[in-house]
Amino acid sequence: MAFKKMTEYNEQRYGNSFRLVNDQDYADVIFLYRSTADVLIADTHYVKSAEYNGYVQCLEDGCPACEKGIRVQTNLFIPMLVLSHSDPDFKGPKIQFWDRSTKFQAQLMNDVFKNYPDPSGFIFRITRYGVPNDRGTRYTINVLEENLVGPYDDIMAKYKISLPESYDIICKDYSATELRRILLQQSSQNTSPRQTYGATPRTVHQSNAVPPESAVPIVSAPQYVAPIAPAPTVPAAPVPASFSAEVMDVPTAGKVGLPSMDDVDIDALGLGDDIPDNVGF
Ligand SMILES: [Zn+2]
Repeated sequence: MAFKKMTEYNEQRYGNSFRLVNDQDYADVIFLYRSTADVLIADTHYVKSAEYNGYVQCLEDGCPACEKGIRVQTNLFIPMLVLSHSDPDFKGPKIQFWDRSTKFQAQLMNDVFKNYPDPSGFIFRITRYGVPNDRGTRYTINVLEENLVGPYDDIMAKYKISLPESYDIICKDYSATELRRILLQQSSQNTSPRQTYGATPRTVHQSNAVPPESAVPIVSAPQYVAPIAPAPTVPAAPVPASFSAEVMDVPTAGKVGLPSMDDVDIDALGLGDDIPDNVGF
């Protein structure tokens, strides 16, 4: 593998995955959903191997990942045309997928579909409230304006996207044989992304003075600590008044010791290994 600029490396490795990393990061997006019928959910595994780090579809009967005990994650991969992003390194517009647990459906329904049954006709702003590693991280989704970028079909054609086929970009549909081969390469690795959870809480991130994320991947080895470290205590994120009751349920789950799956799933992107500063949330 040749040396690349850090920004290029990150773009290639993570470019298809939507992320808001820091408190009050935001992005303006068009959801590639025309109705709730377009919202698809899949049982997946997150695998890490020499050949592939990322989501794979669970094959159910005889699934090699299930046999290895890799946790099943039931996820949405929300397809979006990301128009702009508070990250200055973002180069768009481009198609990205936002991996969310099924718990996120409630917010999607409330903030998006309830008032905009065809969300693809609008531009929404997604804003993060929560510093890195904050289990209480929340997102707001607010409509900004009508989509004058182009209708759904034009966007799909321009970016050469078709759904559901293009979900393969973010979640591979391997055969059992392929998946078994890939999993053979990960024998020295954790079988569950959860085991990286809680690695190295970084209090420095309680301010917004976050080192550039692009600088991190060149760190040679992840520095794990046993996942006994308490979650960093952070000031409660400001909760906008628009949060729905469903969304407010989420932090409660966190407080009783059930990790917020949405946030852990971000961890599962493998960022915990290679971009420790982005672990979780
Ligand atoms: Zn499986």
